[in-house]
Amino acid sequence: MICVCAALVGTEIWQLWRVYNDNIRQNEVITSNTSRSLAWQAETTLKTADTVVASLVERVEAEGIGPEAKSRLYHLMTSLGAALPAIHEIGIMDHNGDAVVKSLVANPAGFNYAEREYFRHHRTHADRLPYIGERITSKIDGAQSITVTRRFNNPDGSFGGVAVTSVSLAFFQRMFDQMQAKSGGVILLVGDDGAILARSPALPKGANQLGGELRQHFADHPDGGSVAYKSGIDGIRRQGSYQHLSQYPLTTLVSQSDWDIQAAWRSELEWHGIILSCMIVVLIGLGGRAITATNMLAEQAMQDSLTGLANRRCFDERIERDVQRAIRAAQPISVIMIDIDHFKDFNDCFGHPAGDECLRMVARTIQGSLGRPGEFAARYGGEEIAVLLPGCDGPRAAALAEMMLVAVRGLAMRQAGHLDDVVTFSAGVGTYVPGRAMGDAQTLIEMADTALYAAKAAGRNRVATAGGASVAALREAADLVSLPSAA
Ligand code: GH3
Ligand code: MG
Ligand code: MG
Repeated sequence: MICVCAALVGTEIWQLWRVYNDNIRQNEVITSNTSRSLAWQAETTLKTADTVVASLVERVEAEGIGPEAKSRLYHLMTSLGAALPAIHEIGIMDHNGDAVVKSLVANPAGFNYAEREYFRHHRTHADRLPYIGERITSKIDGAQSITVTRRFNNPDGSFGGVAVTSVSLAFFQRMFDQMQAKSGGVILLVGDDGAILARSPALPKGANQLGGELRQHFADHPDGGSVAYKSGIDGIRRQGSYQHLSQYPLTTLVSQSDWDIQAAWRSELEWHGIILSCMIVVLIGLGGRAITATNMLAEQAMQDSLTGLANRRCFDERIERDVQRAIRAAQPISVIMIDIDHFKDFNDCFGHPAGDECLRMVARTIQGSLGRPGEFAARYGGEEIAVLLPGCDGPRAAALAEMMLVAVRGLAMRQAGHLDDVVTFSAGVGTYVPGRAMGDAQTLIEMADTALYAAKAAGRNRVATAGGASVAALREAADLVSLPSAA
């Protein structure tokens, strides 16, 4: 029963563990695909913005930024800004940082961007490569965006100014919000400097930097991968995947809360737990009843139903074991064989039910005479009772047998048709003494049996020993003078 319960519990644990890990793997696949797809979209958006910037640079360098060129540029930039939803603003500034053309305002006079980080970069770097700047706040409408910029040169190669396209962070925010399915999940766009540029759900006020745990993970494995972390913003444990853009210093992260990943698993755990508990309770109930029934059967198999004493089979097993033990421990061991005298006559005179009752009383009396640990009486045959006395020498066993005989006679059960007017028994004592030859259990029984026959032959109602020593002599040797006399 324990094995079945353990197997059931083991199978359940294994099954739940498998489902738990499957959920984690499944989440990994989904978040990995989503983060790659978002990275690809972000990359495409930035490339589009850069294409706009590159074409502006090419045009400004070819046509300059005179009044006519400015007007054409303004029209081009407003139509591009309207056509590309990700682009917040397009602008051109001269070598002082003064706005020359801006897509959002027809007259940009008075706007200066010399303090912007991207402007300072291009003024001091001669390269013509695109530059992805830090997050900025628009001077026109306060919108948050990141910038893609390039430097343009004067005909003599000196710094002429900067063309800029700002990509709206609200665009990413909207895109992320549309993809967000579960309440505990998070989608992020993060700069290489750890700045969170867009997040769904939206960032709480004041928090715009990546937490230390995630930042460290990004630093250790910059290209992308799977990650399990505790959010530095809301403290929730999440698992997900991230992907660094191949050409820009940005990373997308898609993650799901541990709680949501294992939502189905938890309900499965509850149901399986309930069902398993019920099964175990039923099994334990059935098993308990089976054990009780088995114990009862085992007990019955070893007990005599009439007298309540142990039966012959039990006696045979006990004597085998105890004789071997006595030999190993060099201890004496004795057996008393008891046979009720003229029991056939008792039956014939008083009937079998009375004979049964007589047997029960004799058995109870003999059992009541035993007190030491290991001593034990069994119904050996019809009206024969065997008593096993481990650790008991011949004199003490004979004395005990005498005591039993006195007690049975004391019952004063009427025995019809004989000189002895009460029920008596004859007993033979066999003993193994250490130092003398000790045989097997069967031989010990035979010794007691022979003594029993001797007692019968000598006139019944007495105890005889295997060696033939008189019981009186044995009693003296055992110094058991206080025992009541059998005579
Ligand atoms: P002895 O003194 O030589 O032992 O004479 P005995 O009559 O006791 O011996 P015998 O072997 O001739 O008879 C034993 C009797 O015990 C025969 C049988 O009817 C009776 N007996 C055996 N088992 C039971 C039992 O379970 N109940 C009753 N009532 N009698 C039993
Ligand atoms: Mg008999
Ligand atoms: Mg008899």
